[in-house]
Amino acid sequence: MRAVWEADVDLVVVGSGVAGLTAALDAAELGLRVVVVTKDATDAGSTRWAQGGIAVVVGDVPGDSVGAHVADTLAAGAGLSDAAAVTEIIAEGPAAVARLRARGAVFDPGTDGRLARTREGGHSAFRVVHAGGDATGAEVERALVAASSDRRLPLLTGHVAVDAVRDELGAVVGLTVLDDAGLPGVLWAPAVLLASGGYGQLYASTTNPGEATGDGVALALRAGATAADLEFVQFHPTVLYAHDPFARSSSRRTPAVGRRPLVTEAVRGEGAVLLDRAGRRFMTGVHPLADLAPRDVVAAAITRTLAETGAECVHLDATAIPQFALRFPTVYAACRHAGIDPVREPIPVTPAAHYACGGVVTDLHGRTAVPGLYAAGEVARTGLHGANRLASNSLLEGLVVGARAARAVVADRQVLHGTGLARPVPSTAVPLAPRAVVQRAMTGAAGIGRDAAGLAAASDAVEAVTALGLPVDRAGVEDAALTLLAQAVLAAAGHRTESRGCHVRTDFPERDDVWQRTSLVVGLDTAGRPVVLEETAVAA
Ligand SMILES: Cc1cc2nc3c(=O)[nH]c(=O)nc-3n(C[C@H](O)[C@H](O)[C@H](O)COP(=O)(O)OP(=O)(O)OC[C@H]3O[C@@H](n4cnc5c(N)ncnc54)[C@H](O)[C@@H]3O)c2cc1C
Repeated sequence: MRAVWEADVDLVVVGSGVAGLTAALDAAELGLRVVVVTKDATDAGSTRWAQGGIAVVVGDVPGDSVGAHVADTLAAGAGLSDAAAVTEIIAEGPAAVARLRARGAVFDPGTDGRLARTREGGHSAFRVVHAGGDATGAEVERALVAASSDRRLPLLTGHVAVDAVRDELGAVVGLTVLDDAGLPGVLWAPAVLLASGGYGQLYASTTNPGEATGDGVALALRAGATAADLEFVQFHPTVLYAHDPFARSSSRRTPAVGRRPLVTEAVRGEGAVLLDRAGRRFMTGVHPLADLAPRDVVAAAITRTLAETGAECVHLDATAIPQFALRFPTVYAACRHAGIDPVREPIPVTPAAHYACGGVVTDLHGRTAVPGLYAAGEVARTGLHGANRLASNSLLEGLVVGARAARAVVADRQVLHGTGLARPVPSTAVPLAPRAVVQRAMTGAAGIGRDAAGLAAASDAVEAVTALGLPVDRAGVEDAALTLLAQAVLAAAGHRTESRGCHVRTDFPERDDVWQRTSLVVGLDTAGRPVVLEETAVAA
């Protein structure tokens, strides 16, 4: 195996989104020698696609408070958020956003000179700061990439992380990678931080970019860490239902597949309403917040409406929003590209896979159960989101926990340097299934509305086409991750015999108090298969 990175670094960060770059910049400022490795271009990943904004209580909105933001987050989490995680992460939000602004991120000003705020589903106040109208993630990514460049942070693009290298005691001492040509290498370091994003690509239709294949969760599981809350895949209620605007040829409106353009929740926050095929407002009476109910509620109501009416999409009427094209330039452009004029006509929308509420189990400082292995951002499960993420809390989590993880690596340094000899780097065959089969099985059985028979059949369908193989390139690493994630999500979803948050079971349609504060922890058995290891009580 060729060592592509010979330098003696203190920390390898996997991923250059909001969590990875925040952690890397902070770690470098704290004196650590850091390298960031990412499998694509520097700005690839979900961060740059984020639209709505960052939920944060700066203290200048009358009637809003950190306590109210905490309460909204706990309510959205449907009993499964960890109260300490919610309180600590949200309380650190203002400082994290101030630091991001100091690094150059520019947010939209309001008419009074203060930051403009919008409101999204589940929020009791206008507290979401945004940039470029609906291009917040692009600005966050731009600012962090520029700050990394100013600081000459070493960034290894086009290298996919494969596995953690561990020493005789099981601690992480490095990371194996493959470059774009499939050449293997090892990055040696006593600490590896996974900031590799989510796994929306498990589904045929998702808002997530192609990088979101769950590599970090799979890597952590194979290294001996655990994951939790994997069954809670958030479906965004309003994804543009039209011909694929990313393909040049088609002009037909077809079922939404592949990466789909989002219609940010802020559009509803600023007055748009959902209509069924008869033009009826179906969210009224479903929830006190109506069209601005938490995402799980809106996505489930749309799914019900589609089933009842036989329609392929519902409509979002945003025609009353003044200056739509200026306020939501990204959404406007996507609509126009699809032949829809949101200023004059309702936008056709359906739900699509959007956010992984679960992930690698970490403490509030990004530490996993494996010494030397850390995780932050969407790949991690801190307990902030519980059964359903509150809108715009994820960029916030990436900023806060990314910074905390950098401090944790510094604090753990002496211990981490005390590790023994590295084991030889193994080239281990792993279960691999064709991606299209995995996506079809997950879309059919593990979307909004699951039941025991469907979940078991999906698991069998994936199993039937799974064979052991050695990933030799990025696609192979991703397929291995998707295969493992599919089995893990199906196992967790089958185990939770109730409906809660994003997890909607048609055979168990109600919440069950037995599960009220129980989180499912998944690990690998001795054969390397994902299994539900334990049911853990979540701190209220
Ligand atoms: C369309 C859309 C809109 C959104 N809107 C909002 C919003 O308004 N507010 C909000 O808070 N959240 C929003 N989100 C969610 C939010 O954007 C993400 O949760 C967040 O950006 C994740 O950041 P991250 O740093 O954890 O991962 P990402 O930004 O996804 O970055 C992951 C990084 O890891 C790299 N990577 C992955 N696997 C490997 C590997 N094996 N080896 C090497 N590199 C790897 C990727 O290339 C990338 O650099 C939105 C998401 C989407 C998709």
